[in-house]
Amino acid sequence: MTMNWAGARVLVVGMKKSGLASAELLAGLGARVRSTDLKPLDQLGEAAEVLARFAIPFELQTPAVFLECDAVVVSPDVPVDLAPLEAARERGVNVIGEVELAAPFLKGRTIGVTGSNGKTTTTSLIGHILRAAGIATQVGGNIGTPVTAMIATSREDGWNVLELSSFQIETIRDFHAHVGLALNVTQNHLDRHHTFENYAAAKGRLFRNMTAGDFAILNADDPVTAAYANQTAATVEWFSGTRKVERGAHLCGEKLVLDGKLLMEAGEIPLRGRHNVENVLAASIAAARAGVMSGAIAAAVRTFHAVEHRLEFVRKVGGIDFYNDSKATSVDATLKALDAFPGGLWVILGGKDKGLDFSALREPLSQKAHAALLIGAAAPKLARQLSGALPLVESGTLDAAIQYGYRNGRAGDTVLLAPACASFDQFRSFEHRGEVFKQVVNQLERKN
Ligand code: ADP
Repeated sequence: MTMNWAGARVLVVGMKKSGLASAELLAGLGARVRSTDLKPLDQLGEAAEVLARFAIPFELQTPAVFLECDAVVVSPDVPVDLAPLEAARERGVNVIGEVELAAPFLKGRTIGVTGSNGKTTTTSLIGHILRAAGIATQVGGNIGTPVTAMIATSREDGWNVLELSSFQIETIRDFHAHVGLALNVTQNHLDRHHTFENYAAAKGRLFRNMTAGDFAILNADDPVTAAYANQTAATVEWFSGTRKVERGAHLCGEKLVLDGKLLMEAGEIPLRGRHNVENVLAASIAAARAGVMSGAIAAAVRTFHAVEHRLEFVRKVGGIDFYNDSKATSVDATLKALDAFPGGLWVILGGKDKGLDFSALREPLSQKAHAALLIGAAAPKLARQLSGALPLVESGTLDAAIQYGYRNGRAGDTVLLAPACASFDQFRSFEHRGEVFKQVVNQLERKN
């Protein structure tokens, strides 16, 4: 059920990219829009200008601003259990996010990709395969373009490939993708969702709204995503890195099999790591259901390059490889990164702790790494939880960690930034952290 927005009193919460795009869409639909944020307008970049252009009033966020509205549109970084939002819901106010607001206006069909890890890679890969096959395709959501900003360019005959974070999915009501993917659900974002069950349920919403004719592509090897099969009316398709599936895609030895037929060899995938084989399996099913033939899928996969900051090769200098996996902000992502290398690692870990348990890193680190180079606010906790497993070096900063790895590494070694933590203690974002890593690495002088 799409709300009739003309004349509706709507509050948009959070004035970053997604909130601004929502406010603009609502103003265009004739809603009476107000806007709010915890920060004052002069600290919100382009917000002042955009809001002025559409004559949208702004007020600093207080419980009172949530009163007297018919709907509230929240940005993904606004906690959904905020007291004034709970109260608004109790009053019958429609509290939704940008995806729910925008999706009914998108022309064409939609692929939604969620999961704890691999969303950006898989979303970009699906976009790449569809485009290569000549299908009108746009990619957005949690990557780059907000869904709202994709409306104008959407086409009846096209596909919209959306990366969806758990925060974006927990504020949908009726939205469903024609093809939905759940890659995996692991301990992540526990600081926001409080419990693992809440987090798993948030992602599962994507599948609960699906109808017959939709496709739910689920990871057969991940018990949480596999359980979504029981909550959906869609046709379920499986992908698995470990066992055979009839419909869907799996890995058989070193061969990727799609719908029972050979797709390609794992060695042809130009991305490191087993986890990327899973991403390719999942993306292939989605592309096949969007009508791409198997041969075209394989050809497109062969020309796909790692997304920046995702196990991205930076440079070989003095015989040492440097890899930037700044996006590895969870223990699970770091485990996958470690898994992608045979050994000889100097692993840079640390940053802002998200409340995760690092002890799962002990074993792979002890087997594959010469040392862990610890940086940022989480360093003391890492030192406690990794103590005894391998040599630990308190590097403090990213720069010092890189220099240490470079000075002590030998030809054939790899310095890997896969920090298992958020970046916000020392950097603006994981992108910023990855940029700094690459800058420092690119300035290393050749050793004699
Ligand atoms: P997301 O958008 O979900 O954060 P990315 O594609 O940006 O996913 O990858 C994030 C991190 O997770 C990277 O460090 C990458 O090495 C790791 N990763 C990618 N795909 C997977 C997967 N299928 N399972 C586990 N980890 C993965």
